[in-house]
Amino acid sequence: MEKKNITMAVDTHTHTILSGHAFSTLAENVAAAKERGLYGICVTEHGPLTPNGPPDFIPHSQRMLPDFIDGIRVYLGIEANIIDYGGRVDVPERYLALCEFAIASFHDFALKPGTKEENTAAYLGALRNPFIDILGHADDPAVPCDFEALAKEAARLGKLLELNNNSLTPHRPNSKPSLIEYIKACAKYGVGVCVASDAHFCAMIGNAKPLFQLLVEMKFPLELVVNLTRERFETYLQQRQLRLKKENLIAN
Ligand SMILES: [Zn+2]
Ligand SMILES: [Zn+2]
Repeated sequence: MEKKNITMAVDTHTHTILSGHAFSTLAENVAAAKERGLYGICVTEHGPLTPNGPPDFIPHSQRMLPDFIDGIRVYLGIEANIIDYGGRVDVPERYLALCEFAIASFHDFALKPGTKEENTAAYLGALRNPFIDILGHADDPAVPCDFEALAKEAARLGKLLELNNNSLTPHRPNSKPSLIEYIKACAKYGVGVCVASDAHFCAMIGNAKPLFQLLVEMKFPLELVVNLTRERFETYLQQRQLRLKKENLIAN
């Protein structure tokens, strides 16, 4: 089994040149996804507070995109910036409501890391935002937080936590020990996770090989990986739609 190449069906965290500091176009990302045999990608541009980032209405513009581009399902997403320790984000709700999948992440250009308690409160607040599905790269050791508190609350809310392949690349050096503790907390509370590339270049699309190797080494229950199969990911999305409709937060 260790020899088997486990991969994701849907890459839930990808950027294009619209994010202001990424290197590929959507067409290039889609071509890469097709070459790697993915079912789909979530287009998750950074939020508007990112230097040279897209405008806050980018989710509105994304609605001009077709569901499928060259056979690849393109899910409309966002990677919103957390902007305070209450967990508010930089994308207005009327635009968040247009997203099919929304990530909230801590980036120091939008909010300076605070104490462990403040960072944990920021993450918990973002998780409780009904439009936010998942926290991005919350294992980042530069933003210390209480992993168990995050995993417990995400599981209670039916939300997700992200395992980000850049925690094992030079992009976030020395992150592996923190990532391992984060993975342990996810397993302990049985929270759903997405394994994501956080691609800023098309060659990164769908690539989380080191992360999957680590999960296998750690005997992480792969049934918790929501984006491992198309069926699992779409089931999650259907449930989030039902939840948002029940709360009268989206139409029909
Ligand atoms: Zn990020
Ligand atoms: Zn990102």
